Amino acid sequence: MRRRALAPALVLVLLLFAACGGVRGGAGPPPSGALSVSFIDVGQGDSVLVQAGGEDYLVDAGNPEEGPVVVDFLRERGVDDLEGLVSTSGDADHAGGLADVLEAFPVERIYLSGYPKDTLTYAGFLRAVRAEEGADVERVRAGYRTEWGGVRVDVLNPPPGGYFSGSNDNSVAVLLTYGRARVLLAGDAERRAEEYMAGGPHTGPLTVLKVNHHGSETSSGPLFLSRFRPKVAVIQCGRDNPYGHPDPEVLERLRRVGARVFRTDLHGDVIVTIRRDLVEVAVERPARAGA
Ligand SMILES: [Zn+2]
Repeated sequence: MRRRALAPALVLVLLLFAACGGVRGGAGPPPSGALSVSFIDVGQGDSVLVQAGGEDYLVDAGNPEEGPVVVDFLRERGVDDLEGLVSTSGDADHAGGLADVLEAFPVERIYLSGYPKDTLTYAGFLRAVRAEEGADVERVRAGYRTEWGGVRVDVLNPPPGGYFSGSNDNSVAVLLTYGRARVLLAGDAERRAEEYMAGGPHTGPLTVLKVNHHGSETSSGPLFLSRFRPKVAVIQCGRDNPYGHPDPEVLERLRRVGARVFRTDLHGDVIVTIRRDLVEVAVERPARAGA
């Protein structure tokens, strides 16, 4: 008698929505009964929209000039308010557009690490947070756990009881678990944060990894990638950015662990939809898909 596989593999399907008109935001609001994670093309910066169970959460909003781009994207995806907003760090390429988002949508809860950042951009964001009436502000550390529209959420970084030196390693890292699918968003985490997460209780294969720190060679270390083994890796970086992101060595490390790589500089917006055991990746521009 043939043994039945107990856990069928997640099936990866690639869709190219540019072929159907190239509308930003893809095919409008997300399907119900699915987890949808949109990696918004904000040039050299991060912005990720998480939608599940009729709820909407935003992680970062790119540089200040990208705020309107993020707001438009959210509207096209059917967002009229946000159940939550995560600021992974005070750096301008993550927090810059958040004030526009707070102005455009009511936000129920704001998650941040509390790590200080002394810049005008971050001060502007914190002012907008204070002006957001009725919003709860949660300072989150590893061990914090919550639920977003039926998706389990675990914070993996920064560690409780202390910070690493430097803002990148104190990025808020959020692990989403939806059925057997796992998605990790860890901002600009570098070596120390990656080692901390690789030594923690949440290692194991990832369905999707937002590649840490835009594909910088200071991140995506071999230990981290071997502990988390992403199937799909999405790099948020700007076209011809001055930092040389993503680093060719990082692309090679991702290839070695078998990750399929998508990049906002090449593919534009990248939208991953996870439904039962099906993982669909839709990209705004099909050019060099799966590079
Ligand atoms: Zn960054």
